[in-house]
Amino acid sequence: MYEIAIIGAGPAGASAALFTSKAGKKTILFDHDKSITKRAWIENHYGIMEIAGPDLVETGKKQAQKFGTELVDAAVTDIERQGDTFVIRTESQSYEAQHIILATGLLTDLAEKIGLKTKPGTEPRIKTIVETDQQGKTNVDNVWAAGTVAGVSVHTIITAGDGAKVAINLLSEINGERYVDHDVLK
Ligand SMILES: Cc1cc2nc3c(=O)[nH]c(=O)nc-3n(C[C@H](O)[C@H](O)[C@H](O)COP(=O)(O)OP(=O)(O)OC[C@H]3O[C@@H](n4cnc5c(N)ncnc54)[C@H](O)[C@@H]3O)c2cc1C
Repeated sequence: MYEIAIIGAGPAGASAALFTSKAGKKTILFDHDKSITKRAWIENHYGIMEIAGPDLVETGKKQAQKFGTELVDAAVTDIERQGDTFVIRTESQSYEAQHIILATGLLTDLAEKIGLKTKPGTEPRIKTIVETDQQGKTNVDNVWAAGTVAGVSVHTIITAGDGAKVAINLLSEINGERYVDHDVLK
């Protein structure tokens, strides 16, 4: 049983996984390698002079794995609630988790299949997004959404930041107090 399952390992999902696994929560991250970020050349991400999108995505996955995130290279085909647990299905396997963060970028097919409320996107070329509150919660209990699929501005610094924000809000809810992750310079 995983505490947190994250669907999508672009900037939003991998950033969320980095925070949740670094906080000690058992985290699984699914991705089927269709990140729009892999088509980008990026010169506007604070702290990085320039980087190819594929390199940013790979580094993000490695950062999450460094803190214990388990990465599964597969499409999630369905998520079903069974009591307090979600069963996450790929073509070949199923996994159980208590909390879900959807970070599926442009893709809303899974969100629609599992009954998340959607609405028209407002950002350029984003047709449909998942409805969330300010915290990142969807209409389904314990299912959160982050990044492009949650309607934030389509820039890596913002989608990565939104993944971090949603992860911190989820961690705070699980822990029952506001969470902060600060390493101090030795
Ligand atoms: C050509 C181009 C140039 C760009 N240039 C810049 C730029 O210069 N600067 C900038 O800031 N931004 C740029 N961007 C935008 C940037 O890529 C996005 O804003 C942002 O990184 C998207 O992050 P995300 O995590 O929301 O989505 P994505 O990076 O698209 O990640 C979503 C992930 O979810 C996975 N996924 C979806 N559904 C499933 C499923 N059912 N099962 C498993 N995995 C699933 C996909 O495989 C994908 O890897 C550019 C985008 C494009 C297309």
